[in-house]
Amino acid sequence: MSVGMTTPAAHRPVGSHTPTSGGLARAALPYVDAAGSEVVQVYVSNSRGWALPPGDPAQDGLFRHGCAERGVAVFIHASLLVNLGSPTPATVERSAETLAHALRRGRAIGARGVVFHAGSAVDAGHADAAMRQVRESLLPLLDATAAEDGPLLLVEPSAGGGRSLASRVEQLGPYLDAVDRHPALGVCFDTCHAWAAGHDLAAEGGMTACLDALVATVGPGRLRLVHANDSKDLCGSTRDRHENIGKGSIGEPAFAELMAHPATAGVPIVVETPTEKHVGHATDIATLRRLLP
Ligand SMILES: [Zn+2]
Repeated sequence: MSVGMTTPAAHRPVGSHTPTSGGLARAALPYVDAAGSEVVQVYVSNSRGWALPPGDPAQDGLFRHGCAERGVAVFIHASLLVNLGSPTPATVERSAETLAHALRRGRAIGARGVVFHAGSAVDAGHADAAMRQVRESLLPLLDATAAEDGPLLLVEPSAGGGRSLASRVEQLGPYLDAVDRHPALGVCFDTCHAWAAGHDLAAEGGMTACLDALVATVGPGRLRLVHANDSKDLCGSTRDRHENIGKGSIGEPAFAELMAHPATAGVPIVVETPTEKHVGHATDIATLRRLLP
């Protein structure tokens, strides 16, 4: 029998979006332990507000060291209000300030990446201007964070509708082109958003085909984070209501394809699903781990 080439199954660290109210270290570290997370995603400002809190240096330090000790990778999700494509200049300006703040906070807490939504032009006539705004807003942020060896910015395609700048994975190519494929811009792929945007992930081979299309558009190595969420809605609904893994309309076999796809090898996987009492996201994290090849 020939020994042949054996490739060890690449790891995909699995974790969850994690609450921080009561203090970053005080709240998040016990949650990480209860859920069994190997990766943690947090907000560093109100998810539905523009206020930019400075952070507590003592909690920052404890959190950074606690995560390093546990070997847990850290990601920040920027405020959901961020929209670099908005036709309202004040919104574009606040969005850029919010991303700059998240990058600063990311350096303070040792984050690898700051996730933000691709945004939308809102008005049909604003699409070209919206992509110019993306370029003008992102390039200085990308240059600055690259110079400081800071967190990456990670663009997340939206669930579609409302003149989205990127919801189908094929739209990520033009988005990356708008910033000259800057090396500090990575991609965060959200399964619920892709499903809502019309990728039939529940069909056999559907998740694989979607990830193949993603890699064909953005190139190898650009996918830096996955949001693994099942959905309460139908394919193409443009609705973004997350469900526990295997309990929604996407279904468990699609997540098995996700965990086996070469594009996710070594890429952290975060669930943003409805939580359980006491154990946080432990069940969804365990389900995804069981699906690892
Ligand atoms: Zn997401």
